[in-house]
Amino acid sequence: MTAPLTDFSRLCIHTITTKPWALETATARFAAAGVKGITVWRQALEGRDPAAAGRAIRAQGLEIVSLCRGGFFPATTAAGRIAAIDDNRRCIDEAAALGAPLIVLVCGAVPGQSLAESRKQITEGIAAVLPHAAAARVKLAIEPLHPMYAADRSAVNTMAQARAICRELGSPGVGIAADVYHIWWDDNLEAEIAASGREGSLFAFHVCDWRTPTTDLLNDRGLMGEGCIPLRQIRGWVEAAGFRGFNEVEIFSNRLWASDQDQFLRDIQAAYLAHC
Ligand code: ZN
Repeated sequence: MTAPLTDFSRLCIHTITTKPWALETATARFAAAGVKGITVWRQALEGRDPAAAGRAIRAQGLEIVSLCRGGFFPATTAAGRIAAIDDNRRCIDEAAALGAPLIVLVCGAVPGQSLAESRKQITEGIAAVLPHAAAARVKLAIEPLHPMYAADRSAVNTMAQARAICRELGSPGVGIAADVYHIWWDDNLEAEIAASGREGSLFAFHVCDWRTPTTDLLNDRGLMGEGCIPLRQIRGWVEAAGFRGFNEVEIFSNRLWASDQDQFLRDIQAAYLAHC
């Protein structure tokens, strides 16, 4: 049985989790609460110089864990696929300026295009940006998304599919972001996490919870403990696979965004110790 977490030394929070807070507010509040890591969403950087933002975050004692997000490679036209590759190169430049060592990829899908074709385009798109990412010393993490998003957000829906793409690309700069919300249901999850660890591709671990009923396909994630995901068991598998990075709290929730964010931050920290 995996022991509970007893401190916040490996707690990272995504800026999207406390979306009502501007980047500066989130940074200050996280730091004051003893949170050690932050994952920055690109929209939180809007209108800011990423290098200056990175310096300001580090000055508060926070480690920048990753930049969210790149991806969305598939398109029905060559021009669309090229535009996606260009945007991912810009994302890599932003991550390098910010000082984020990793970009999380929501890989994309196009309704009406076969998932196999989308996965081929995803592999080609990542391959196209890999040299740019390597030169910038930024790694890329494929995030498998729950199959309810297969039509339009990601044709990569399992750890197995993500590992297959990693193997095909064969680069130490490409790995996987394992997000419990997307993969908790997979009956091969323990073995898949172990295999990812062996292959050196387990780059990130995201936590939240699955509420029943889920009232919104995107923005009704639960705080840890509000749902049915065996969080501590999955963290145990991730750690058994050799992962020693941050536990990243990533919650999109209209309900929780509408609540008092200072209280929400206290609730996140309590839930982290109680349930992760
Ligand atoms: Zn995630």
